[in-house]
Amino acid sequence: MRLDPTRVLVTGGAGFIGSTLCDRLLRDGCQVVCADNFSTGREANIAHLRAAPGFQLITADVVEPLDIPGPIHEIFHLASPASPVDYQRLPLETLRAGSAGTDNVLALARAKDARFLLASTSEVYGDPLEHPQPESYLGNVNTVGPRSVYDEAKRYAEALTVAYHRAYGTDVAIARIFNTFGPRMRLDDGRVVPSFIAQALAGRPFSINGTGKQTRSLCYVDDMVDALLALMRSPHRGPVNLGSTDEMAVLDIAGLIADQTGNPLRFVYAPLGQDDPEKRRPDTRLAHRLLGWSPAVGIREGIARTISWFRTDLGSFR
Ligand code: NAD
Repeated sequence: MRLDPTRVLVTGGAGFIGSTLCDRLLRDGCQVVCADNFSTGREANIAHLRAAPGFQLITADVVEPLDIPGPIHEIFHLASPASPVDYQRLPLETLRAGSAGTDNVLALARAKDARFLLASTSEVYGDPLEHPQPESYLGNVNTVGPRSVYDEAKRYAEALTVAYHRAYGTDVAIARIFNTFGPRMRLDDGRVVPSFIAQALAGRPFSINGTGKQTRSLCYVDDMVDALLALMRSPHRGPVNLGSTDEMAVLDIAGLIADQTGNPLRFVYAPLGQDDPEKRRPDTRLAHRLLGWSPAVGIREGIARTISWFRTDLGSFR
């Protein structure tokens, strides 16, 4: 049993999920090293932590080898552009973060004898032909499509993670994260919840790509952080799907946000993006069985908390 506090590295710790994870780790008494290059994350996400005892920020690109003195017990590797708008703006950076970046962070885990958790994605399933997607589904990815830089970077990162375990015995886990939402998303990151909230708060119609009948299963960020911690603190390697199983049509998500903001339900339609998945819902029975985890915050409550955050905190984030 370890007597010194757990020292945890969070790569991508200034991002939406990463900063929420840093908050939680510090609340739990861990020491936290946040490494971020601020390509898609924000200083404002971690500004409140800068003076917190036990918090250290390293401005670094994981594509370069990381030199972090002292012990590291756990590594959450989240550093990667994550929204379609970001990875299409940063295609080569996305491929490098998943490949060289993951290699560097795994090498650090090996050197420090730390447990390593990869933040992978439902996008490894591509436009799935099996629904809902269990971990055993091997995916349907277009290797040269507009989303391929992200999907293939994460598929490679998964392969590398498993290879470090097989070759060096590195202690690893793979989380396949499905759509997550909540405070600290960027209003302009192109994902459905912040886009609709931005439109609602500006009194504009909701923009729908395609028919709006395509589905998403949305997990509130605090639940996702619980799941990542549960996987890190378990003996399991995964891959494990993490996400909500409450599948909703995009039109219904707009309806919920219209109800909660008072914005009238009007739509403008645009074509569906190429390779935009029609259906997205995880099979989370493995997470439930191995980790005893399932989401606690319902979609209505999560959307209400997110709208409230955008209303009250947005000013300081512009
Ligand atoms: P985000 O963009 O808010 O956070 C990513 C963070 O990584 C940012 O702070 C960014 O500056 C940093 N970063 C990017 N490239 C880097 C590099 N080369 N070196 C150092 N830092 C770098 O995204 P997020 O939604 O918080 O996603 C976090 C992780 O979870 C990502 O790996 C993403 O692929 C994964 N994920 C997220 C979702 C979701 O719904 N949000 C779904 C599936 C997987």
